[in-house]
Amino acid sequence: MADTITLNADGSLNVSDEPIIPFIRGDGTGVDIWPAAQLVMDAAATKHGRKIAWKEVLAGQRAFDETGEWLPEATVEAFRDQLIGIKGPLTTPVGGGIRSLNVALRQILDLYVCLRPVRWFQGVPSPVKHPEKVDMVIFRENTEDIYAGLEVEAGTPEAAKLIEMLRDSFGWDIRPDSGVGIKPVSETGSKRLIRAAIRYAVERGRKSVTMVHKGNIQKFTEGAFRNWGYELTRDEFPDVAVGWDDCDGRPGDKVLVKDAIADITLQQVLTRPDEFDVIATTNLNGDYISDALAAQVGGIGIAPGGNINYVTGHGIFEATHGTAPKYAGQDKVNPGSVLLSGVMMFEHLGWRDAAADIVRALEATIADKVVTYDFARLMEGATQVKTSEFAAAVVDRL
Ligand code: NAP
Repeated sequence: MADTITLNADGSLNVSDEPIIPFIRGDGTGVDIWPAAQLVMDAAATKHGRKIAWKEVLAGQRAFDETGEWLPEATVEAFRDQLIGIKGPLTTPVGGGIRSLNVALRQILDLYVCLRPVRWFQGVPSPVKHPEKVDMVIFRENTEDIYAGLEVEAGTPEAAKLIEMLRDSFGWDIRPDSGVGIKPVSETGSKRLIRAAIRYAVERGRKSVTMVHKGNIQKFTEGAFRNWGYELTRDEFPDVAVGWDDCDGRPGDKVLVKDAIADITLQQVLTRPDEFDVIATTNLNGDYISDALAAQVGGIGIAPGGNINYVTGHGIFEATHGTAPKYAGQDKVNPGSVLLSGVMMFEHLGWRDAAADIVRALEATIADKVVTYDFARLMEGATQVKTSEFAAAVVDRL
């Protein structure tokens, strides 16, 4: 019988062999990639004596067409009640209403970690010489920073009022025709993000956590993020992790917690990728770094992601690319992003055996040069297949 996933007192998940998992197929190419990914996930689960009780919920264009709402309450309720879910890409409504459905879901469920593992799969075309050296896991803060949406538009009464208040109260001289945005970075938000990153590093046997920031310029937001991270390391993880300054860069068998400035990081992830392992960073930096890293290992078609609240147990895993509307319904695009998001979800559920099987089968398929158009155009001697054929080829290799 199908069961709801619940949270244990120790913060772990209680997952039966037949958990109910809500999914959003997604707009545009969601119609192609979702069934492909589902086929592979089901086959891998079955192989290990498990079954997923999929529960379809609506969001995005399809929800709007069928219910008149972009994000129906029933969808939010399903993710809230069942704890863990997965989604394809969603059309962002243009001009009014919800700014972004992805952002809305993250905010409603307070999914404060955006988790993006970035690793290379044998055979995937890459623009760098040693993509095999890229194996990083990004923890991007998901709820604060300039992304919180606290902005006023130039020329509005709100902007004029804020500019006047800042001049009168702080002596700040801001040009009157400016738009103004606020960048909140809190101790609570920073510490819960960095705590999750350090715990992940400890549990998965990772060597280091690098806090990436612009603290040299933005001292009280980005700089504070870094300082709170070192404080947290000392206060909460003295036995398993150590800050760079507290060990002169020699952590022994503990996880090394270090920091790096964002602009230098974007150079060094290219020139010295093996020096990075887990990365913990603020919202905007995380956005840039995730895409720059994804490009090194084969790009947008296969980059997976998850949005997680480790305290409440909620998590939504998702394809990181958009709906690619020009390819919708053509059975053409790469299902790798949503499939690997499923792999992340399996790992999160504790189904590491089934997750590892999918990764092995995916690697074997790519190594055989059986790939969708996006990889085929970059590989010599590839056999270009449709989305559904690629999924079938992965299942064959499970
Ligand atoms: P996009 O849908 O990500 O597509 C941009 C390009 O990325 C495509 O033209 C294609 O490149 C490549 N691509 C995307 N998905 C692929 C896949 N599965 N396999 C292979 N290549 C893939 O970005 P967009 O065109 O800027 O956005 C379209 C819509 O998606 C917008 O409504 C946007 O708001 C929304 N969006 C949603 C999400 C989300 O739900 N997470 C994220 C981003 C954007 P080539 O043409 O070069 O092959």
